[in-house]
Amino acid sequence: MPDRETAARPVPSRKPCLTAVLRMAGLRPTRQRVALAELLFAGPHRHVSAEQLHGEASSADVNVSLATIYNTLHQFHEAGLLREVAIDASRSYFDTDTSDHHHFYVEDEQRMIDIPAESVEFKALPKAPDGMEVSHVDVVIRVRRAQA
Ligand SMILES: [Zn+2]
Repeated sequence: MPDRETAARPVPSRKPCLTAVLRMAGLRPTRQRVALAELLFAGPHRHVSAEQLHGEASSADVNVSLATIYNTLHQFHEAGLLREVAIDASRSYFDTDTSDHHHFYVEDEQRMIDIPAESVEFKALPKAPDGMEVSHVDVVIRVRRAQA
């Protein structure tokens, strides 16, 4: 959402910084990856779906297919730059905040809202199956507008 203040003055490019971030994550900083990283990481933390990012890329004249967006998001996720939050089999969001936290999912707006990790407490968690360990616990609480 551009507001009057950011529209008035040019935003300094974060390209050199993002190039370094990609290199450190073990990803070659191709033109497409840098362009998508700019869209993802320029600004506050957020949750984005592949389709949303595809729309943003088109608006920013970054010409990439939806398949490339998917591949890049998964590469960023595997490199630890993004966290994936699966809502159901056909819908995933990618979170630029990779720290431990949970989410509200607003069903009628298809939007995620962060829940701080310490707001959720577990009274009991099952032990991981033999030879396995819990890597992390994701809680998604589905909400909708209360009926008036
Ligand atoms: Zn989040």
